[in-house]
Amino acid sequence: MSKKLYSLIIPLYNEEDVALECVKRVTEVMEKIEGDYEVIFVNDGSKDKTMEIMIEQSKLNHKLKIIDFSRNFGHQIAITAGMDYAKGDAVIVMDSDLQDPPELIVEMIEKFNEGYDVVYAVRAKRKGESLFKKVTAKAFYRFLRYMCNIDIPVDTGDFRLISRKVCDVMKNLTERNRYVRGLVAWVGFKQIGIEYEREERFAGVTKYPLKKMLKLSMDGITSFSTKPLTVSKNLGIVLALAGFIYAIVVIIQKFALHMPNTGWASIVVLILIIGGVQLIMLGIVGEYIARIFDESKNRPLYIINHKYNMDE
Ligand code: UDP
Ligand code: MG
Repeated sequence: MSKKLYSLIIPLYNEEDVALECVKRVTEVMEKIEGDYEVIFVNDGSKDKTMEIMIEQSKLNHKLKIIDFSRNFGHQIAITAGMDYAKGDAVIVMDSDLQDPPELIVEMIEKFNEGYDVVYAVRAKRKGESLFKKVTAKAFYRFLRYMCNIDIPVDTGDFRLISRKVCDVMKNLTERNRYVRGLVAWVGFKQIGIEYEREERFAGVTKYPLKKMLKLSMDGITSFSTKPLTVSKNLGIVLALAGFIYAIVVIIQKFALHMPNTGWASIVVLILIIGGVQLIMLGIVGEYIARIFDESKNRPLYIINHKYNMDE
């Protein structure tokens, strides 16, 4: 049997503080593994010294490859680019900040060799992250599961191994607003989770501010569910029904009980509530339309400035 090739995909965005340590830890693990390896670092438009550090390292070890984006395209797109260029029999995606311990790769590869096509890492514990992030993440994964028609495992990030088969399928999914972990679940095949404790960030700060987290969660929901549209329709029905019932109450009050018409306050309240609800629902529809618009433009997902160690 010929030696297997393992591809590692690691996105980098302003990671000058962790880049060197990441290379060190990752190569340490990969050198020990039976089989060959390549590490594809995707530089997602870093504005700091990340690129200089990585070029230096790629000269020392030709298995360290770099895809340098023309600007910041986002974490999910960076992973996608890595999958497009990975050559391995199995492809492993991980973060650069060592929150995903590279040592877990050994276990993932064991499972892969047992015949699994997807081995995803489940965060049993999260260290060194704010309470806000922990709570919102936990709630979001459960909400997403409730919303979606496919089985997206809870508490998993993008730290996972996928087989060549799955990677080839992923390459054919060209949608723009990507939620990669959802797509991998959607693809199917034999999947298994392994638990781990998510470490603290090695250095630096998170590159996922609230704005990016919200965008990712909207992508997750809108890519895999149209339930928000159904919910807004149902809410419309409920509100209209309440309006009819109240109309009957008013008519009875006026003609049967001869009570005077009052209630400008209730009118203001109703206008505000219904107006607000309508705008929210319009916004939900808008989110879907915006995504149709993005798809229809058919622009490339990313633009590469330069590739290092990969000119075959
Ligand atoms: N990242 C990226 N582009 C971005 C944001 C993040 O390539 O626009 C990378 C980042 O360098 C890291 C990974 O995605 O390797 C995960 O980011 P981070 O650790 O900041 O997210 P968190 O763990 O806080 O959710
Ligand atoms: Mg992190």
